[in-house]
Amino acid sequence: MKCTPVCPFENDDCCMARILSKQDDFANQISMLETMIQDAGHECIFLSQFHCELNPIEMYWGWAKYRSQQVDKNTFQQANEAALVALDGCPVKVIQRFINCSWHWMSAYCMGLTGKAA
Ligand SMILES: [Zn+2]
Repeated sequence: MKCTPVCPFENDDCCMARILSKQDDFANQISMLETMIQDAGHECIFLSQFHCELNPIEMYWGWAKYRSQQVDKNTFQQANEAALVALDGCPVKVIQRFINCSWHWMSAYCMGLTGKAA
């Protein structure tokens, strides 16, 4: 019924689970997450896996994580508060730079450059 632990990458018909996952009604199924986001009036965009440079949220998260690590914390509550302070402390101008940086990466890829060349 299903390969263990995972299906071989190159196979399309190795097991029943893989065959079913390739059927249109499964492959084109909108996820519950997408549905919830769209119902709230937003657009859900999935970015390419393993390309964190295309996602400004990753840069923002890294910025906040670095600052949060600079604070002494002894309890989970303190860690939670430090994370929120760091997330709220990122200036809008810095967030705009993260977005610009991601756009530059996208532009470079759209021109056909490889990651190294970009
Ligand atoms: Zn399989």
